[in-house]
Amino acid sequence: MTFPSLHRLSFVERRPESVNVYSFIFDHGNRVRWRAGQHFIFWIPSLDLWIQHNSRAFSVSSAPSEGHIRITTRYFAEKGSKFKHRLFNMKQGDRIIAFGPLQRFYLNEGFSRHCGVAGGIGITPLRSLLVQLDADSSIAPFTLFYQNARPPIIFDEELRAIATRRPNIRVIELMDPAHIDAEALKREMGDLAGIAFYVSGSPGYIKAIEVMLRGLGVNDEQITQDGFWDFRERVVHVLRACFEHKD
Ligand SMILES: Cc1cc2nc3c(=O)[nH]c(=O)nc-3n(C[C@H](O)[C@H](O)[C@H](O)COP(=O)(O)OP(=O)(O)OC[C@H]3O[C@@H](n4cnc5c(N)ncnc54)[C@H](O)[C@@H]3O)c2cc1C
Repeated sequence: MTFPSLHRLSFVERRPESVNVYSFIFDHGNRVRWRAGQHFIFWIPSLDLWIQHNSRAFSVSSAPSEGHIRITTRYFAEKGSKFKHRLFNMKQGDRIIAFGPLQRFYLNEGFSRHCGVAGGIGITPLRSLLVQLDADSSIAPFTLFYQNARPPIIFDEELRAIATRRPNIRVIELMDPAHIDAEALKREMGDLAGIAFYVSGSPGYIKAIEVMLRGLGVNDEQITQDGFWDFRERVVHVLRACFEHKD
């Protein structure tokens, strides 16, 4: 059982992933336990105490098997928030505080088939899930629908390599205007009963996918979602996560 708590991480390096997309790698000294797909709230200690300037929630894009904590996000030098500027300018050895792990966005072992639906940067927790399934040589069938507005697709090569190595893992990439709809879902997944769905992306994206899934008869127990909402909902979210946490 892993309860959310505070962890001190040390910045290792920044890696470019795609246009305006970077990963930030942190060393956790083998002290942090989390399950692939979960997220933390990250706080960069600074003299600026306003929470909106120094903290953000991020899904961990690395899997526990990789031995480090990696977060992946978009960064816009001109328009980026103060938090993102601070993150982007971290130097090796700088500290960041992480609170978590939070939320039950991890493999639901009560189901025999699994389907991830990610929009844009919402791919982060699903990369973590697929990398961990690969490391565990898991045979749980997993299909990932990954929708992106335009190329290049984040983690494209890695995800394709996993799908090539593991016949039970499929990655279906969709580029605008192609998108996941009821017809595509039924065509690729067949009977939707008994499938666990993991939906990740912006709140609007998640809402649209949930409405579609419910319209197809998928019930609440089958859907896990990781909505990338903003800071106003964060306090409520943390409190809820702490009180509801059962691992
Ligand atoms: C559970 C959870 C998990 C999350 N996981 C992640 C994650 O893994 N990765 C992640 O990135 N976020 C994640 N988020 C969202 C994250 O917490 C931030 O809210 C988000 O990254 C926005 O950051 P920011 O407010 O610093 O704004 P910034 O990203 O700095 O954006 C500031 C400004 O940049 C401009 N801008 C932003 N996007 C674009 C664009 N596409 N094109 C042009 N201009 C743009 C806009 O003017 C915008 O107002 C998660 C949120 C939650 C709740």
